[in-house]
Amino acid sequence: QDQLYLRIPGPTPVPPRVLRALAQPMVGHRDPLMDERVARITARLKPLFGTQGKVFLLAGSGTLAMETLLVNLTAPGDEVLVVTNGNFGERFAAIARDHKRNVHTLSFPPGVPTDPEAFRGALAAHPNLRAVIVTHCETSTSLLNPVRELAAIVREVRPEALVLVDGVSSIAGVEMAMDAWGIDGVATGSQKALMSPPGLAIVALGPRALEAMRAVDGPRFYADLRRYEDSLAKNTTPFTPAVSLLFALDEALNLIEEEGYEGVFARHRLMRDMTRAGIRALGLPLLVEDDAYASPTVTAVDVEALGPKRVLATLREHFSVVFASGQGNLTPRIVRIGHMGYVSPSDVLHYLAAFEVTLELLGHPVRRGAAVAAAAEVYTAWA
Ligand code: PMP
Repeated sequence: QDQLYLRIPGPTPVPPRVLRALAQPMVGHRDPLMDERVARITARLKPLFGTQGKVFLLAGSGTLAMETLLVNLTAPGDEVLVVTNGNFGERFAAIARDHKRNVHTLSFPPGVPTDPEAFRGALAAHPNLRAVIVTHCETSTSLLNPVRELAAIVREVRPEALVLVDGVSSIAGVEMAMDAWGIDGVATGSQKALMSPPGLAIVALGPRALEAMRAVDGPRFYADLRRYEDSLAKNTTPFTPAVSLLFALDEALNLIEEEGYEGVFARHRLMRDMTRAGIRALGLPLLVEDDAYASPTVTAVDVEALGPKRVLATLREHFSVVFASGQGNLTPRIVRIGHMGYVSPSDVLHYLAAFEVTLELLGHPVRRGAAVAAAAEVYTAWA
């Protein structure tokens, strides 16, 4: 397992410094040492989300963060519009349906970004929307939605609706400016660009969402952010937090701040561009064709002709490189390369080289070195 090069879109590799932070002795969650830690982490997460509001930490996965947004900002029977460009948008719609919201969806085929005009039309068609939900990076297809532009349309057409964003595979890899862009709530998890193990559900609410959350009268208990807000005033959490994961996140935030936000986001864009140039040089189609909507954190590659299963197995067997399979209908068609968090341009050159040899082993015609050469060109132009 130590030998595996984990290039999946989460969980992602955990840096040695973060691993060491995890090994710290346990402390009680009511200990002053923990209060300090919670205060420091939540204060440092706010600029990462771009909000003057509040950031809440729950023990759970990213899906809990999504559900927490929904149950705190909408009530049963409320109308919500969910934009779906793939599996995770579908999941948000399913969560809302299970919670008896009145769900409208606006769907796009895999790899196709949300069309602003269609979006405007959907908003116009539903005058009573309480919330509009968009996936920032749709991890199942590697699409990055233009959430800034979409939020601006909501503010214009349905100013009273809240804008909620699934940022599970974007936060800390892609810029987010909630308050400036008019985004009210964002959900994320610890195991992606935040370079920590799975198990923290992180929810950021802007000022408008905080007010809405206090007023919403719908059932919730563990996920009731009113409890978390009361506790946060004392720098603590209402229930036992994932103490060790908070140690990890604290150290991961140190790493992010040492590199600087701009450096972190630029590195992710660079890895995306290097990866896409390399894949194109291998003659394989990218699921997201338009560079403007390609995610900086994950890249889906069409390997239908070769068979994704064989590709993944060969890559792992020969090179210990692990890419992710597709999900649902896309399983027989794509593989997904995760390049977020503790991953560097050096890793991109490595996985492109391994992928290229893998394709040759599987009988796909390649010009040896073509992928690395194309990525090197991107790198040198940037450096
Ligand atoms: N949304 C997105 C965009 C994701 O990428 C993921 C995880 N792949 C989730 C939600 C769900 O997160 P979790 O598996 O941590 O519940």
